[in-house]
Amino acid sequence: MKKLVALVLACLLVTAVSSAFALTSGTYEATVAAMHGPMTVQVTVDEDSITDVQVTANVETPGLIDWPLKEIPAAIVANQTTEVDTVTGATFSSRAIIRGVREALKLAGATDEDFAAKIEKAPAEDQDLTADVIIVGGGGAGLAASISATEAGASVILIEKTGFFGGNSIVSGGIFNCPDPDLQDYADITSSLDSLIEEALAEEPVSELHAELQATVREQFEAYKQTDKHVFDSAEWMALQTWNGGDKVADLDHVIFYAQNAYPTLKWLESMGMEFAPVINSASGSLYMRTHTAVMPNGTGYFKAFQTRLADKTDLWTPLMNTTAESLITDETGRVTGVNAVGKEGNKVTLHANKGVILATGGFAGNVEMRMEYCVSDKWPDLSAKVITTNMPGVTGDGLRMAQEVGAELINMDQIQLLPYANPWTGATSDITLTYSASCYINKNGERFVREDGRRDEMSLAIIAQPDGLMYQLFSADAVPDPATGKTLGDKTVSYYLDNHLAGYVQADTLEGLAEILGMDPAVLQATVDDMNACVRGEKTDDYGRVTWTKELKTGPWYAYPRKPAAHHTMGGVNIDLSTHALRADGSVIEGLYCAGEITGNFHGANRLGGNAIVDFCVFGRIAGENAAEGK
Ligand code: ADP
Repeated sequence: MKKLVALVLACLLVTAVSSAFALTSGTYEATVAAMHGPMTVQVTVDEDSITDVQVTANVETPGLIDWPLKEIPAAIVANQTTEVDTVTGATFSSRAIIRGVREALKLAGATDEDFAAKIEKAPAEDQDLTADVIIVGGGGAGLAASISATEAGASVILIEKTGFFGGNSIVSGGIFNCPDPDLQDYADITSSLDSLIEEALAEEPVSELHAELQATVREQFEAYKQTDKHVFDSAEWMALQTWNGGDKVADLDHVIFYAQNAYPTLKWLESMGMEFAPVINSASGSLYMRTHTAVMPNGTGYFKAFQTRLADKTDLWTPLMNTTAESLITDETGRVTGVNAVGKEGNKVTLHANKGVILATGGFAGNVEMRMEYCVSDKWPDLSAKVITTNMPGVTGDGLRMAQEVGAELINMDQIQLLPYANPWTGATSDITLTYSASCYINKNGERFVREDGRRDEMSLAIIAQPDGLMYQLFSADAVPDPATGKTLGDKTVSYYLDNHLAGYVQADTLEGLAEILGMDPAVLQATVDDMNACVRGEKTDDYGRVTWTKELKTGPWYAYPRKPAAHHTMGGVNIDLSTHALRADGSVIEGLYCAGEITGNFHGANRLGGNAIVDFCVFGRIAGENAAEGK
């Protein structure tokens, strides 16, 4: 990446740098408001120049902020101007750095006019490029495909619309579901989950394949019952749960294939240096104890692993950032042979594929127009712009339109997921505290209202029905003994949020004190917690059906923060076969076109399980890369 930054800087020509600045040498600091909270910027100057820029504190989204942090300070110092380009897709955070530098420069004696010279850029030229494989989209699927395609010896050009890799994948929870024979016995759970399996096996099968899958799981479950293990799991049970959890809308053969590839894919990730915590949990909406949690914040660990693996592939792998695909090129037979794209300066970029094009442009939950157009069922009372989103600005469903233009069938397009627990103001998830199963959801009255280990759609609908469509996540020192070390998903501490009054975090020594802060009846809140603790102790069955219990909440301090459902994932998309070929409505393959990741529509049905999306983009990104490399 250093190389890329250097390249960008080398292309820039500063037209006029004034020299007579009246600066007082030293280091100056300014704190400005950024996207998710305060950002502190430190600027070091001598009498007439900026010698260093550092961002010393911020609470921006991990992964996303890395690129502005790398590029903006370097560009300011190299060009001696604050009139530098922002990182596409991370504009707000980029501008915050620039504002911080300007504020700090003022403290050093600079005027508004100083260090404000415009940078003149050499005009960008049209490009005509060829590679074996063209990949559109630099999120999870695009990078997984880059690895397998280059490892198969193919040359690859990847185009990415924004100025950074990651898409929605890098801001995800970073969680990965798969049965794991090594860790299964150490799952952090005290209650039995056997009733879930019994329930699924008792169902009347709706197809032969369903009956076969039930029979396999039944056999595995019977064998498990002869052991002293306390959590049953298998690829087939994961498949059955994934399919049932999406109301049997997904393609069962695809789901079975997907689940059978999940564990080998975990091992593939680990072979690239991806690190997971050595314990299995049940992430929200995952419905089972098979969630592996990334050690690095959000989805950043996957991208570190992917980029490390690609670092020695520079002879084969050419990423073009700030390059947006607009349409696919086809030949007279209908085969997809390339991509028409446009560069940052509006220059034409025409890409030719010797073997295949992979669309990995993600979903459309953040595209209000598209989600209103396609998600026409009455499942969600509102999907307008009033509903916040967790999605990155670059992920707008472009690939779906492009695929459709060349004849691809789009399936399950009416299926959209709302994530129950987003920041009500920003849609962020990096600020959730990692309490795993030791917390509960309460409404503004201090009452529980839904099982916390249930489906994401059921939780979201239940929250929408509460006063102000809002809930609080409630936990105590039993879940987070020390807020100064207890972590959020984005790797900040609970104390950081409390001290900076961010994301609505509140704390009180007693439950009564917390109820007062939140305007709840303390007696109601106490009754809620007492009832939940009775469930944890196994003294009663939960009124809302929760079965995953780990800890009683008894000891203060008590903590809470508000959450709202946000448009998160689109389960529908391009109909693909198991080799990731895009299919027409008549089932025929569109030669030369492969799709992987959230752009595809076969795997999650009416409700995607939490922790299943990363499995999806890794398994099928990898297959798309392998097959496109061979032109298979
Ligand atoms: P997935 O999980 O399926 O990989 P992501 O959301 O992680 O999906 O990544 C999709 C990526 O595709 C994002 O980085 C997004 O900026 C990029 N992208 C979307 N549309 C285009 C386009 N028209 N041209 C190039 N890149 C695109």
